[in-house]
Amino acid sequence: MSSYHVLILGGGVIGLAAAYYLTGEGLKVLLLDPGGFGGGASGACDGMILLQSKKSGILLEMAFKSLEIYEGLSEELDRDLEFTTRGGMVLLENEEELAVMEKLIQEHRAGGLKVKILTRQELKGRQPHLSSEVLAATYCPHDSQVNPLLLLRAYLEKSLNQGLVFRRERAIAISDRGNRWQVRTSGGNLYEACQVLNAGGAWAGEICSFLNIDLPVKPRRGQLAVTQRIPQIAGTSICNAQYLKTRWHKNFREQLSEEKGGFSFSQNQQGNCFLGSTRGWKSFDNSCTLEGIKKILRGAFRYYPVLENARLIRFFAGLRPATPHGLPILGELRDCPGFFIAAGHEGDGIALGPLTGKIISQLMCGKKPVLAVNKLTPENLKKQGF
Ligand SMILES: Cc1cc2nc3c(=O)[nH]c(=O)nc-3n(C[C@H](O)[C@H](O)[C@H](O)COP(=O)(O)OP(=O)(O)OC[C@H]3O[C@@H](n4cnc5c(N)ncnc54)[C@H](O)[C@@H]3O)c2cc1C
Repeated sequence: MSSYHVLILGGGVIGLAAAYYLTGEGLKVLLLDPGGFGGGASGACDGMILLQSKKSGILLEMAFKSLEIYEGLSEELDRDLEFTTRGGMVLLENEEELAVMEKLIQEHRAGGLKVKILTRQELKGRQPHLSSEVLAATYCPHDSQVNPLLLLRAYLEKSLNQGLVFRRERAIAISDRGNRWQVRTSGGNLYEACQVLNAGGAWAGEICSFLNIDLPVKPRRGQLAVTQRIPQIAGTSICNAQYLKTRWHKNFREQLSEEKGGFSFSQNQQGNCFLGSTRGWKSFDNSCTLEGIKKILRGAFRYYPVLENARLIRFFAGLRPATPHGLPILGELRDCPGFFIAAGHEGDGIALGPLTGKIISQLMCGKKPVLAVNKLTPENLKKQGF
């Protein structure tokens, strides 16, 4: 049986960021993922690093710190990650949305975020392709974007160089052997480690069920459409207020509710537009539906009529790891020393991934984390009523 210091379950942005930092500490690390790297949500998303979509408090603090890491990450990983800070906008269609965002802006400013309202007139100058039906928008200059696939590949390559062992296998059973953990896999192998990190994204609950632990993480499907390369049309990342609302709406238990749709838009450096997205509870079904794509395209044409002539080249859907409280779960399970969780980032995993990897690695190495995240441990979230 092969033995490791740390066994990571899940090769999405969270598992790979953790692998990078843990191997950087000189630890012997094994990462297991049946889908290869990026087979989950991290390989089926857009790469917006939105700060203004985070409610103030721990999420906004994490977003700030993660952005700081992003600013030096291309150099650190020695790869172009297509990271840019071009700002971001939330489109507002009526007075009600404007009032909600004005209140949020006050909180954001108190938390140190620069964000302002642009009137319809101001938008005209900055967004010549945007429909004149949009009443106003919030603008945050900190909002950034990255190419998630390049990020995953860079983390993997660097971690492999630092000694990571990567196997395309699914964990199917976990057992506690005193001061060691054993993990059995779909490949018929048994691995042993001092510590285990559950970075299973939407499947983190299933992984915890191997230990009879109930972890409230559920898959929340999101669909995306991608266009051919076209000239830059917006210059920033965009979403509408409805998209934020679906993020914040607490319908965790409504498993069969209708798949809701908002609008999100980002354009990569090559010119491909990522048009999103939906939010729905469809168990682990990660297929695209005509209804979902129709909603997305309707939004795209309404806001940017110029897109009507763009050709679509891809559709895909990913499963966001959602929690009832809208916060990620981070830390060691009190009753299972050596078993750590970093999951439940919902629509924020790309934005918060680098910081999450760093913090969880520091916790696993017994170091003080760069940001205190005690309130995100499963036990503390429960104490707060979640
Ligand atoms: C349409 C869409 C758009 C999005 N846009 C953005 C955005 O713009 N910005 C942003 O910050 N976030 C965005 N997100 C959210 C982001 O994609 C997720 O929060 C993030 O990818 C979650 O990363 P993860 O590593 O936790 O999970 P995943 O990437 O899902 O990784 C989990 C991995 O665990 C593996 N696994 C499962 N079971 C096992 C097992 N038993 N053993 C071993 N491995 C296992 C899976 O194969 C998977 O690869 C979006 C998501 C979607 C769906």
